[in-house]
Amino acid sequence: MSVARITKSARTPGSVIVISAPSGSGKSTLVKRLMASVPGLVFSVSYTTRPRRRGERHGKDYFFVSREQFGRMVAAKEFVEWADVHGQWYGTSEQQIRKAQQAGKDVLLDIDVQGHSQVRRRLPDAVSIFLLPPSYRELERRLHERHSDAPEVIRRRLQNARREITRWREYDFLVVNHRLSSALRSLQAVVEAVRVRRQAQQQRAREIQKTFGGKDE
Ligand code: ADP
Ligand code: 5GP
Repeated sequence: MSVARITKSARTPGSVIVISAPSGSGKSTLVKRLMASVPGLVFSVSYTTRPRRRGERHGKDYFFVSREQFGRMVAAKEFVEWADVHGQWYGTSEQQIRKAQQAGKDVLLDIDVQGHSQVRRRLPDAVSIFLLPPSYRELERRLHERHSDAPEVIRRRLQNARREITRWREYDFLVVNHRLSSALRSLQAVVEAVRVRRQAQQQRAREIQKTFGGKDE
């Protein structure tokens, strides 16, 4: 599916799209593929106090900052939302979002359920997606198969997942990651749907209407 097909007036600000999921659901895998396959979509690079993992790049995956710097940014109200996730702080830069939106780009926020509820309050036009694993057992299997966490960390992630899964009702779209390819298609379809929302298309509709002559009602 070519999401690039959907165009809009350059003057229309982009939309904010939030994606959340219990850890191990396949969110990173899908977000990477979504970003690679959809033009005009910008990834919001969060600030975090957690240590950098091997292969992660500062400014690309996250901005890795100290607790002091993060605290200063909170005090200066630089975050549209921020939360303590598994003992580390994570936050979304308001300026980054605004800049992308003003450039007519849609912005994808990969944030947790606490961040999502703050974004909903602050940006009521934001659209949100909750990604679900097919089952608890499959989530457990994926976390083990990933070989990236110690058994204790996996236990904690599964415990958190039990809490997070209950929050699906707060989201606009629910995508089950059973088969990767069909989950990706669903995510692309959501972006496509966001791009044809009235608020994203109204400038263009007005321009088209003008070509018909007569008064703008
Ligand atoms: P998250 O970012 O949600 O923590 P990952 O993207 O790291 O999850 O995926 C967790 C593991 O599950 C990885 O090993 C990944 O390759 C695997 N995975 C992701 N999606 C699927 C799927 N649809 N079917 C089977 N395995 C998957
Ligand atoms: P990780 O440390 O594994 O990259 O991410 C852990 C969790 O933090 C994930 O659920 C991710 O979505 C969430 N997260 C990443 N950035 C932000 C952010 O800016 N705000 C919030 N609230 N959560 C975030």
